[in-house]
Amino acid sequence: MNVLIVFAHPEPKSFNGALFDTAAATLTAAGHTVVSSDLYRMDFDPRTSRANFLEQKDPDYFKPQVEERHATETHGFAPALEAEIGKVEAADLVIFQFPLWWFGLPAILKGWVDRVFAMGRAYGSGRIYEHGPFRGKRALLSLTTGGFQSSYVSGGEEGDILGILRPIHRGIFQFTGFSVLAPAIHYGPVRVEERRRRQWLDEWSQRLRTIESEQPIDVGPYA
Ligand code: FAD
Repeated sequence: MNVLIVFAHPEPKSFNGALFDTAAATLTAAGHTVVSSDLYRMDFDPRTSRANFLEQKDPDYFKPQVEERHATETHGFAPALEAEIGKVEAADLVIFQFPLWWFGLPAILKGWVDRVFAMGRAYGSGRIYEHGPFRGKRALLSLTTGGFQSSYVSGGEEGDILGILRPIHRGIFQFTGFSVLAPAIHYGPVRVEERRRRQWLDEWSQRLRTIESEQPIDVGPYA
């Protein structure tokens, strides 16, 4: 399998960093081809702007989707952005590794999606959901929280975690054609002992060794 890991944490020595390193090492050892986008290390610019494109279809009024469609037709994405789109197109499995920030993706990763999942390449002209360009690919969220698992349930203070993740699972991945694997969620790593965190890393590694045969999940209703 070709695997793309998109990593969004400002500190490489964080627990997210350890989960990222574990995934890259395990999948490589299992014979998969792993590429990554370490967004902070790349100093990835999350802002959608005219810099996404080599030329402008409409220099007077910037409408991102119009320019994305034009760039799709003219091979007109800026090289650094084209490289990121190419990584997704080449991947059989895409993993997002991130801490849950404000119930969602860190801005740098949200901005990566805004720019990379471009109209024309990732969706458009009726090519959405089961007809999306990324059908046949699978996606997996690997995230950490600050809060306890007991509060991320239906009726809990935070609510059902699958409801919180639904905008990503449904609105980003399934919208563009991906199948969604069960998220890997490590709740409150700062609240547990070192030994437990090391155990989590071992369990994550074990799961990844057989990830190729995992079946997609139903992403569920809104919270
Ligand atoms: P870290 O604090 O980096 O790591 C935890 C511990 O693991 C550290 O002691 C570290 O040294 C240790 N560690 C690192 N590597 C290893 C290793 N190899 N083996 C064993 N231990 C290791 N939380 C929520 O629940 N909901 C929210 O909506 C939310 N919003 C937030 C918004 C912002 C802007 C911020 C900054 C935080 C928010 N948080 C929220 C909290 C955040 O989700 C957690 O702080 C984060 O998920 C913890 O993961 P980490 O990788 O940063 O942990």
